[in-house]
Formats: sequence, C-alpha cells, structure tokens
Amino acid sequence: MKNKLSLAILFLGLLVFSKLQAQNPIFTNIFTADPAPLVHKGRLYVYTGHDTASVTAPNYKMPDWHIYSTTDMKKWKHHGMKLSTLTFSWATGDAYAAQCVERDGKFYWFVSTFHKKSEVSQGGAAIGVAVADSPIGPFKDAIGKALITNEMTKDKPHAWDDIDPTVLIDDDGQAYLYWGNGSMKWAKLKPNMIELDGPITVDTPKHYIEGPWVYKRNGWYYLVYASAGTKPEMIEYCMSKSPTGPWEYKGIIQENVPNSFTTHPGIIDYKGKSYFFYHNGTLPTGGSYRRSICVDYMYYNEDGTIQKIIQTKEGVKKVK
Ligand code: CA
Repeated sequence: MKNKLSLAILFLGLLVFSKLQAQNPIFTNIFTADPAPLVHKGRLYVYTGHDTASVTAPNYKMPDWHIYSTTDMKKWKHHGMKLSTLTFSWATGDAYAAQCVERDGKFYWFVSTFHKKSEVSQGGAAIGVAVADSPIGPFKDAIGKALITNEMTKDKPHAWDDIDPTVLIDDDGQAYLYWGNGSMKWAKLKPNMIELDGPITVDTPKHYIEGPWVYKRNGWYYLVYASAGTKPEMIEYCMSKSPTGPWEYKGIIQENVPNSFTTHPGIIDYKGKSYFFYHNGTLPTGGSYRRSICVDYMYYNEDGTIQKIIQTKEGVKKVK
C-alpha cells in the first residue's frame, strides 16, 4: 500500500514537472496562428493572427492581429489586439497571415485580408499595409487603400490567391514583397514601403501552396513556405544567391503538425540562436480553425542548408 502511494506521488510529481517543462504552444490565453517574428532593440516580437471560430465551426474566423514579445524566450508578454481589419476602411474582414518589418524607425505591418466590392476591386483577397512609430503601435492604414488587389494578379482563377505577404529588405535597401496562395508572386517595393516599384512576377517553387517567409542569412536568401495542400501542410524551402531567384529547391524542413491542416513558418535569429515559429492545433479544444503558435530550435548546416525541425512539447530554453 505504501509503495503504491509512493508511486502515485511520484507519478503526480512527474506530471506536474512535465507540465512545467512543456512550453509549446507558447501562447495559451487565446488561439493564435501565422507567427511573424521581429527583433527590435533586444526584444523579440511575434505578430500573430487570432482564431476565434467555435469548436464546431467549419471555417476560419479571424477578426484581428495580436502582438506578443519576450526578452528571454520563456516569459512572454501579450500586448493585446494591435490591429484589426476595421483599421482598413476598404476591407470586409478576415485577418489572415501578416508580417511586420522595420524601416527607418517605422514599422510596416503587411497583412492579408479581403476587399469590399467597389470600383477598386470586385472583392477577393487583398494585401494592405499598416504603419506605426513603434513595434506595438498604434497602427494606422498606411495607404488608405489596398497595396495588392485580386485583380492585380490573374495567373490563378481563385479569389483568395493574393494572401500571405512577406517582406525582405536587402542590404542595399531594396525591399521585396512576396505573397500568394497556389502560386508565389513577388514585386519590388519603393523605399516608402507602400508602393510597388515595378511589375509583379510569378515564380512558384516546387510543392508551393502558401505562406512564404523570405529572409537573408550569411549571404544566402531563403524562401520557406507551406507545401502539399490536398493533405495537411508541411514546410519546404529553397535557397538562392539572389532575392529574385532562381530558387534552388532544398526539401522538407517540417512535417505535418498535430491537429491542424495548415502550418506556417516564421524564422528568426535571436541572442545567438535560430528559432522556427509555427502553429499547430494542440491546445485543449484546438484544431484547424483554433490554432496555437509554437517555437522550436532551428539548425543550419555549414553549407547553409537547414536541418529538419524537431517539433517538441518542451520548446526552447530560456536565454539571457
Ligand atoms: Ca489574383
């Protein structure tokens, strides 16, 4: 009897210990998706979507975007809802994937949403830009209209092909916008970050579905994206010596995630380590429309290629 009691206490202890150890998902107060990390003045910010669909809902319900931040990868501050589709007078709603980038002390939050039917657009997905003087806002519509409307790209027939913006500012100051569902499109941005500077090019890498994340590291340009699509998404990637390609396909870096059809890459180096943010559906009552953001380590090989991401419940360790 005494032994059984000791075993029970040990088991309980282990359970509590493993709960304390488990970090993923990292945000548990609301359902979050589509992580976009940014480092500014020693602090790591993560810009997120917000899933509010009911447990039984058959589709996404995403009203707004939130911001979290940390300085040690362990303790996260929720700054709250910092941008809504209501900020964009031309939008009908749906706060899809987004990324915030800094240029000359201003913060440009590129977002996917949907356009009202008007003289400008017949509706469908569109990309807008919000701007602020601080990484946590307050953000306002930077243009007063969409940067990209569905009509500006015709290579795909569906109305939601113009989603999921990612922005790279190259070392020479030239900024590039990449986006798209079903095909990847890109265009140069003017230094003001709110106007295209040239034509839109379609350049779709192998197995591409959506959610591109483009960045530069040690002289290599990386194009990381969600793939598959008829079955649950994975994350695959390409490398190039130029921001405009040609992109050399390098393979899968993340397999399917538990309990969510989609996943989405957000990659950053912070305090000497490389991190891979993504989402899955593992919070209680979670699922494909009630997702949660996780973070795990990312490792590069000497030739710049990326090792396969190991998804863990433990997440990453505290840093100073
Ligand atoms: Ca289009």
